[in-house]
Amino acid sequence: MCERNSKDYMKISHDDQTVKDISNLGEFGLITRIASASKPGIGVITGIGDDAAVTDVSPGMQLLTSTDMLLENVHFRRSWHDPYRLGRKSLAVSISDIAAMGGIPRWALMSLGIPADLSLEFIDEFTRGFLAMASEHGVALIGGDTCSSRGGLIISVTIMGEQYPQLVVRRSGAQPGDDIWVTGTLGDAAMGLRLLEQLPLHEGEGWGEGGSILISRLLDPSPRTAAAFALAETGMITAMIDISDGLLADFGHIAEQSAVGGTINLDAVPLSAGFRAASSYISEFPYNLAISGGEDYELCFTSPPSRREKIALLMKKCGIEATPVGIVTTSPEVCTRAADGTRCNQKNQGFNHFTR
Ligand SMILES: [Mg+2]
Repeated sequence: MCERNSKDYMKISHDDQTVKDISNLGEFGLITRIASASKPGIGVITGIGDDAAVTDVSPGMQLLTSTDMLLENVHFRRSWHDPYRLGRKSLAVSISDIAAMGGIPRWALMSLGIPADLSLEFIDEFTRGFLAMASEHGVALIGGDTCSSRGGLIISVTIMGEQYPQLVVRRSGAQPGDDIWVTGTLGDAAMGLRLLEQLPLHEGEGWGEGGSILISRLLDPSPRTAAAFALAETGMITAMIDISDGLLADFGHIAEQSAVGGTINLDAVPLSAGFRAASSYISEFPYNLAISGGEDYELCFTSPPSRREKIALLMKKCGIEATPVGIVTTSPEVCTRAADGTRCNQKNQGFNHFTR
């Protein structure tokens, strides 16, 4: 079922007025339905409908490629995640990876493993969300695949972007003495997840506006494309990563690849009003959630202290808050420092899929 070529999709007539479910529509009908909803994009010579898509990278630029999987009951639950926002998030996490390299997101491939109980309406809403996120960030859907899944829903997205070689920002350039910066506020998505997990305990109480914002940060993250691109373009930053697994883990990747360490000042970590208000619902130390919780899709980057004012100004122009939260050190450890000066070695903390 999966090995058919995309050229076959276009042989299917697209008269779906009477189609009520996916089995009735068939694989090629489904692909045609998704393809007909997508729009042409920059650099797309041949989109969905041939054996492979053909794209034109802008003169002088290099191609950036990244892929992500979202698995039901590992990354999302259908009972929590409405299909529209799931579609948005499926692409947002990939866009965030291209942004974290300073790249311009351009083209996406979307593959789905679809369980038998999934409705056509779910796929339609999912696609609508995916394509809305694509349109907001100038991304074109140029291909993909659909298979049946005997487990849960499987979503795999590959994204390609482009950038001039001198503007690509890697994880490996952080220097001792650099500031460690983060955009936005941290821990909101993790707190949103805690609220959803504890929902049965607080049935009927409602989370208020603050709670809804936290849950929305989890279910519908916004990739920081404009801020990342602006930072890359100025050449003021030495390393960058998006915060998908928590600041500690993700700065840990910068530290490892740059052969440095870092100290993060806990009282400098930016927390939202909603996060502070919801902290009373959880038993753990809220800063642990803010630096280890993940899924915020904010940016963490490093830059010499001499650029501090310029960076703050640049981020403000992008409509985003950015905060220096620590300093890059020569020691290979990543530590946190509490307000009372207590230091704690935090190496190997953060989310890891293969930790049991
Ligand atoms: Mg990433």
